[in-house]
Amino acid sequence: MTHQVLARKWRPRDFESLVGQDHVVRALSHALATNRLHHAYLFTGTRGVGKTTIARILAKALNCETGVGPHPCGVCGACTGIDAGRFVDCIELDAASNRGVDEMTQLLENAVYAPTAGRYKVYVIDEVHMLSTHAFNAMLKTLEEPPPHVVFVLATTDPQRVPVTVLSRCLQFNLKNMPPASIAAHLATVLSAEGVDHDSAALDRIARAAAGSMRDALSLLDQAIAFGGGEVREPAVREMLGVVDAAWLVRILDALVAGDGRELIALADEMLSGNAPFERTLADLAAMLQRIALAQIGAIGDADDPATLQRLAAAMAPEDLQVWYQIVIHGARDLPLAPDAHAGFTMVLLRLLAFRPDDGAAAAPATRARAASARPKAAPAERADGSGGGASTGRAAPGPAALRAAIAPCSSAATQPAQTSEPARTGARFDGDWPALAARLQLGGLVQQFMHQSELISADGLRFRVRVPIRPLSEPSTVNRVRAALAAHFGAPVRLEVEVGPVRGATAAAASAREHADRQAQAQAAIEADPFVRALIEDFDGSIVPGSVRPVERRDTTSGDEQ
Ligand SMILES: [Zn+2]
Repeated sequence: MTHQVLARKWRPRDFESLVGQDHVVRALSHALATNRLHHAYLFTGTRGVGKTTIARILAKALNCETGVGPHPCGVCGACTGIDAGRFVDCIELDAASNRGVDEMTQLLENAVYAPTAGRYKVYVIDEVHMLSTHAFNAMLKTLEEPPPHVVFVLATTDPQRVPVTVLSRCLQFNLKNMPPASIAAHLATVLSAEGVDHDSAALDRIARAAAGSMRDALSLLDQAIAFGGGEVREPAVREMLGVVDAAWLVRILDALVAGDGRELIALADEMLSGNAPFERTLADLAAMLQRIALAQIGAIGDADDPATLQRLAAAMAPEDLQVWYQIVIHGARDLPLAPDAHAGFTMVLLRLLAFRPDDGAAAAPATRARAASARPKAAPAERADGSGGGASTGRAAPGPAALRAAIAPCSSAATQPAQTSEPARTGARFDGDWPALAARLQLGGLVQQFMHQSELISADGLRFRVRVPIRPLSEPSTVNRVRAALAAHFGAPVRLEVEVGPVRGATAAAASAREHADRQAQAQAAIEADPFVRALIEDFDGSIVPGSVRPVERRDTTSGDEQ
């Protein structure tokens, strides 16, 4: 698949080019330089932080023909063989794969035999916690009395599930999630070397979306290059990731602080025509409220725009902020149930306005004074003017505590009717063909990527469990958009649970690849069977150049006019 191209091409091949795992590199380099090697290492950490990459570099360091050391040459037979995954004494197993239990056990039992080509037999076992009991026992036998020529390099995302008998015999390293700044810097290096135009704001966005995984960052970068037509610019990346322009959020909060309902509605309309992703806007609004809350207690962090954050922090009462945060979170959750995203979004904005604690009511005097002084512009009359019926609800509420209590039943009541009426409202039915559904939905960006790369695990009515191969596709913002698209398609609320893991081929992407391969094979067979072509081959001692046969685009299914 194309999205793996950069990740594979830019996989570090030596310790020097490895980003962000200095503590591990230092320890391993020292052990290699002083020849104090352990016979079993365990690398833990989330996906894509470099566990198996380090394992391969270690395998090269042990088997390089120039000698054991922290700087494998990278060009000898052993180094290139290990890089290409075909070195006989570097045995890579993925315990999460479907590989047979017997085969794995057999490979592990072979550890006692001396290496054939290299100095060390290096076993690299990824997702080791998934090994079968048999395979674990076979490995333990070797771990208990390790032959001097065997080194185990185990990797796992879930060390809790590795048996303690194995853990106790391993030297353990915890690989860190990479900070966004390191990821962005590395992406810049990659793009400069690849000659791809980019701006740093775009790379910052990708780095943050990758959540610590360099592999995911490179996958997203590949998609961004395709999405942006060969360059990586911030507006296109923002659109691809469904990120909201921070200026919208600031304007929403300013209008809210001013109690300006008309401005809020105008903003929602403007965002509709600007094609803003409403679900994502609410998620980002919640994130921004959280940053403002932190700013109120003096923790600014590395904000993009600290001055604006400070200004909003000073303009909001902490109690208001807590209530608003709750409303936004609940609003985002309920958005798929709204008639449409714009309507749902507008209602959330109006609810934010409606549930402002009233200055004149039963709030504690200190709170009232602070709130009043913090919001000079917010007079009750002004709000009633701007927000219609909503403001009167707000005025009836006595204070923040009562408000918080009032909001929970309010929003759960909103979800109730939709849940009970679900079967009755079901329009289209799901026929069990997830790849076909993916092809039918007209989507773009990450939502389309999600549908094409995901695999259905189970479906029960409109409750779906799916697996996606890379974590960015499982981000709540993406999942919410997919859920909304499915709900729109079926005309009813859907439940969608997403897990990250290897997909086994029942995806739309794999189906279209298979279809292409089938048509290629048919075309090849048709050419080879064609009497005219056969005559040519026989008369002129010719042959068909492999790969030169291309199926023509199918015009209808019965014509059989492929050649
Ligand atoms: Zn070498």
